[in-house]
Amino acid sequence: MRSLKNEIEQRGMRIFELVEQHPDTSFSKAGFHQRIMALSMRDEELKVQLFRFVEVLPSLRTSDEVIEHLREYLADTRDGFAPVIRAGVHLSGLVPWLSARVLRWNVSQMAHQFIAGRDARELMKNLRRRRAKKIGFTVDLLGEAVVSEKDADEYAARCLTLLETLARETRDWADPLGTNSELFPVVNLSVKISALYSQINPAAPADAIARLTPKLRTILRRAREIGAFVNFDMESYDHKNITLELFKTIFTQPEFKDWPHAGIVIQAYLRDAEADLRDLIQWGRMRGARFAVRLVKGAYWDYETMKARQNSWDSPVFLQKPESDANFETLSRLLLENESIVTAAFGSHNVRSIAHAQVCADEVGIDRSRFEFQLLYGMGGPIKRALVDMGYRVREYCPVGELLPGMAYLVRRLLENTSNEGFLRAKFAENVSERELLRDPEELIAVGAVRQDTADRGPAVEQLPGDVYVNSPLVNFAYKDSQDKMQSALREVRKRFGEKYPLVIGDEKVWTEQLTPSVNPSNPTEIVGYGSEAGIPEAERAVKAARAACGKWSRTPFEDRARLLERAAEILERRRYELSAVEIFEVGKEWREADADIREAIDFCTFYAQQMRRIGRPKLTQQVPGEENYHHYWPRGVAFVIAPWNFPIAILCGMTSAALVTGNTVIMKPSEQSIICGAMLMQVFEEAGVPPGVLNFLSGHGSVIGAHLVDHKDVDLIAFTGSREVGLRIWESAGVTRPGQRELKHVICEMGGKNAMIVDSDADLGEAIDYSIYSAFGYQGQKCSALSRLILLEENYDRVMERLIPAAASLRIGNPEEPRTMVGPVIDEAAYKRILDYIEIGKGEAKLAYQAKEVPPHGYFIPPTIFTDVKPNMRIAREEIFGPVLSILKVRDLDEALEVANGTDYALTGGFFSRSPANIERVKAQLEAGNVYINRSCTGAIVGRHPFGGFKMSGSGTKAGGEDYLLHFLLPRVVTENVARHGLAPEKEPEYRDEFLWPSKR
Ligand SMILES: Cc1cc2nc3c(=O)[nH]c(=O)nc-3n(C[C@H](O)[C@H](O)[C@H](O)COP(=O)(O)OP(=O)(O)OC[C@H]3O[C@@H](n4cnc5c(N)ncnc54)[C@H](O)[C@@H]3O)c2cc1C
Repeated sequence: MRSLKNEIEQRGMRIFELVEQHPDTSFSKAGFHQRIMALSMRDEELKVQLFRFVEVLPSLRTSDEVIEHLREYLADTRDGFAPVIRAGVHLSGLVPWLSARVLRWNVSQMAHQFIAGRDARELMKNLRRRRAKKIGFTVDLLGEAVVSEKDADEYAARCLTLLETLARETRDWADPLGTNSELFPVVNLSVKISALYSQINPAAPADAIARLTPKLRTILRRAREIGAFVNFDMESYDHKNITLELFKTIFTQPEFKDWPHAGIVIQAYLRDAEADLRDLIQWGRMRGARFAVRLVKGAYWDYETMKARQNSWDSPVFLQKPESDANFETLSRLLLENESIVTAAFGSHNVRSIAHAQVCADEVGIDRSRFEFQLLYGMGGPIKRALVDMGYRVREYCPVGELLPGMAYLVRRLLENTSNEGFLRAKFAENVSERELLRDPEELIAVGAVRQDTADRGPAVEQLPGDVYVNSPLVNFAYKDSQDKMQSALREVRKRFGEKYPLVIGDEKVWTEQLTPSVNPSNPTEIVGYGSEAGIPEAERAVKAARAACGKWSRTPFEDRARLLERAAEILERRRYELSAVEIFEVGKEWREADADIREAIDFCTFYAQQMRRIGRPKLTQQVPGEENYHHYWPRGVAFVIAPWNFPIAILCGMTSAALVTGNTVIMKPSEQSIICGAMLMQVFEEAGVPPGVLNFLSGHGSVIGAHLVDHKDVDLIAFTGSREVGLRIWESAGVTRPGQRELKHVICEMGGKNAMIVDSDADLGEAIDYSIYSAFGYQGQKCSALSRLILLEENYDRVMERLIPAAASLRIGNPEEPRTMVGPVIDEAAYKRILDYIEIGKGEAKLAYQAKEVPPHGYFIPPTIFTDVKPNMRIAREEIFGPVLSILKVRDLDEALEVANGTDYALTGGFFSRSPANIERVKAQLEAGNVYINRSCTGAIVGRHPFGGFKMSGSGTKAGGEDYLLHFLLPRVVTENVARHGLAPEKEPEYRDEFLWPSKR
């Protein structure tokens, strides 16, 4: 073991010796690129601003725009360099034309350091130069984000053309080593599956594989004919399993079963990597033909850790850099030990990782001509030369493409080169000692380091929950296990179709003669279940039961009520897949949307429990000698909760749990279209131990029991989420005081939206289109937060439309039971007819720019529809449609865009895509919406993180899932006691005492 360690060190030293003979210029101080790198490594904030500027630059059209962005990004950076930068920014303002040109030129030079050519001609020139240095290539086609099947088909066609060019141009090229050349074709193409299919859904690997196979087959067939090699690059984790499965599927098919020139990437930073590699090797042995693996650490570390934190997932990547390094070494050995079936390519610039692979190969007895080192174009030049000098195979990964699509790649490389953790920075910028750089990563793995992703969940009561609240994790459908669980839940729930569910009043299950069927909107002949239908007598009984339970429940310690919610959350978690399945059948949600709804319900329970602990204890107010004051809350009394069908468990649960935890008793009425979801939630609370009468479940017609209870003298609070029409009626009706009424009724009223997103002239169009499509057509546009007006600046209009329509045309429409479905049915026949009516209105008012042609023949499926030439005063631009219909409005500039966006009765959500810091600030300040989203979708609010709710005709200004939400369910109260007796006051300052807690009798 010891000798191996020494050998690796010695080998590393030898590589360093050779590296020193050809110093790396990337990190020296001379040019623009070098200065950018040096500046970024000194100051993180400056680095972010610089890279953001670099990224947006190619999409800016005029010199003024360039200078404006430069100013916005860099004028205010705080740092020792600020004066230099400020002077530069100032100068560029004086001569914008020249400065913009110089900047563009510099950035394009910088990009060309990492991009091997804009086109085939430039590429070949570079490849020939490399060939003279005995360096091979694999080419990667850069392109804009693939948002449609049109984009994907174009990428596939470009791959084919590139293969032809490479074959033609390299016809007489020989292998640089001359031995084992049959393993290493000269022409080598790297492909990305996300560029070949725009609708990859991690939950639906079979669909992705079915769609990708024919496209890849064409490329692979041609590659085989011309004797090329094709490598599947590895992208983010949610594509990993699909990529592996696809690889195995295609290369087991008879046509490619014996083809040895296919490779795939394994990312050593993944915790799964070893299991995946072992599985691949086993597959390869069964297949019986050689294949290749490029071993890398992985390019998406920041993305993966960020995404895991956002979704409350355990991180799929190691969190300590030496863990990735050590795993790279483990996997290097595994590859070399299985060299009889797998050809290894080590993709690293790290001399320790490289030296380890070399020594390991010697030890296992693998000749150096039988594996290769792969490095990125423009990086680690001296290392490549050193490896060639040592007689190893070296191949460069050469991206080719235009500057605009190349920017994302360039920024990734800049980040990698300036990363605190990176080898290249340590070696070439910080001159870390060679001995240190060659240390065994195992020695460096911190013992017992805390994993950030599994940090303690339970925050202390005193802390502000908003800051520390940890959401329940979303189900990650990238895992086969999650897919299987969902499939099995769907089967189980289907078996229960047609079951009947009672009302619950007090301690009784109440069955009524009238039963309401709840149908599956994807197939209306299927009845998911029946709900007992409450009439006025049942409503009366429910109010009595709730009123009777009020006193005791209001005196129940808030801690007990908080625990009830937490128990409910646990049950929701346990029944998670089952409840998602019910939603898929009853309201037509697709898998991820259904799961997000259950997650939100869980979050409401745990978040409100936590909030109650924060506000439940009475607080002392300002204290003066001789007087004692405290402030606390009483519940309002009986709450009537009226929920919609579009978030059938989350919203019902949110309003109910808020009412319960604050000490109110509740009559819970689900929507007529989602009775079964409501009944399920009632079961959850019953199992959690809600006392009889504290929560009563009434399903029935809103126009009958709803109206009756809203007007009822014994209902003190109404929590409503739904349409504007019903909301306003409730608001008005609740304002009338009836004989015998104790309280002024309090109404929490959340209504609809006519949400707008604005796309700025400098926006990242791939992102803007992707998110707009999701916001408009996710759950068929039936979210109150959904996008319905997309506002485009005329400067951008054509470019956006050119890609938006094909993106809409690529959506998968169908039964959401199938995980591949993105657009399912609308809720019922009435909605179906109403939306179709709106589409007719749209056809009369504006121009029908797109409508999907094929939708399933049965069920309430509306084709996604896009109208252009829409004017702000048209009905389709003003009225809430609540379906998959998107209006496009063209405007002159941002002023007009804001005017149009704000020119509606509603103010729920709104969005803006831009890379101009000044414009972003302006929209943040001026967009009239309760939830403003910048550079992301305008749907998908998360409890605690995005407290949700609007104003104007969208709502009464409450924020579900926010810190102040519970206060709407409470009455504040202050108690003052004069504790002085004839001038004698206690000397002791008053302190919090338990007696301040809610009085024992009320
Ligand atoms: C030819 C080639 C092809 C490639 N193809 C792909 C590909 O298809 N897919 C892909 O994802 N990557 C790919 N990469 C890898 C990637 O782009 C980086 O170049 C590579 O990870 C850098 O590793 P290194 O060994 O050169 O440098 P090092 O500096 O030794 O390692 C840096 C890497 O360590 C990891 N890391 C950083 N911080 C941490 C931390 N805190 N905890 C754990 N790990 C950490 C990250 O993976 C980071 O990239 C490829 C690389 C090459 C050279």
